[in-house]
Amino acid sequence: MDPFILAESYWKDLRGQEIDLAVLPWGATEAHNLHLPFSTDNIMVEKIARESARKAWEKGARVIVLPNIPFGVNTGQMDIRLNINLNPSTQMAILDDITNVLNRHSIYRFIILNGHGGNDFKQMIRELGIRYPKMFICVSNWFQSFNNDDYFENGGGHADEMETSIMQFIAPEMVKPLSEAGEGKGRKFRIKALNERWAWAERRWSQVTEDTGIGNPYKASPEKGEKCYNEILDRVSSLFVELAGADINNLYE
Ligand SMILES: [Zn+2]
Repeated sequence: MDPFILAESYWKDLRGQEIDLAVLPWGATEAHNLHLPFSTDNIMVEKIARESARKAWEKGARVIVLPNIPFGVNTGQMDIRLNINLNPSTQMAILDDITNVLNRHSIYRFIILNGHGGNDFKQMIRELGIRYPKMFICVSNWFQSFNNDDYFENGGGHADEMETSIMQFIAPEMVKPLSEAGEGKGRKFRIKALNERWAWAERRWSQVTEDTGIGNPYKASPEKGEKCYNEILDRVSSLFVELAGADINNLYE
């Protein structure tokens, strides 16, 4: 039982506990190529939230990790069996309710730790900022906290070498042999600007990839996963420490 994990806390202890920062992990339930489970994003974001909170706690930061939200935005994947889509408007309703609770209990520092590329909380945070002027809300995409090329030969972002390597390290029993994995070949748009990323459209996932993966996982290894994972924990835990100690009314140099 960790005192910085809400789901493992007892009222007896929690009611008097100092809390400077609330952390909400948010994943997704979706197909991850042929070798990783539907819970991949949830397993990774929960583990990263817990272990980063542990490091931050050991440095004196009073953090509390809320239970992970296991469903994310999967609107482009409605034809992929049992990918569970949560609409952005539903996410906003959930975030509003959670923020309301934190605000009521004077926990004004709040971070969403996001583990799924289809989730985009920025605009919601802007809107919540108007509703809850005392709150400081931010979001971190843990998968952007490091440089992919420092650790991996291939990118892609979905069930790719990075995700596979980290899962091989943190949850090896849940990763099938790479001989069973598809090659994660993602097709590009025919429209140039969409590939150059200065125009954006949602991808129809089932037309982009055969095996639901984007990014070749064959060069993955638990050793690569461990190195990358350690950098992620360093970065995310440092962010927690900084946020927990921040004067939210005096944030600028
Ligand atoms: Zn994923």
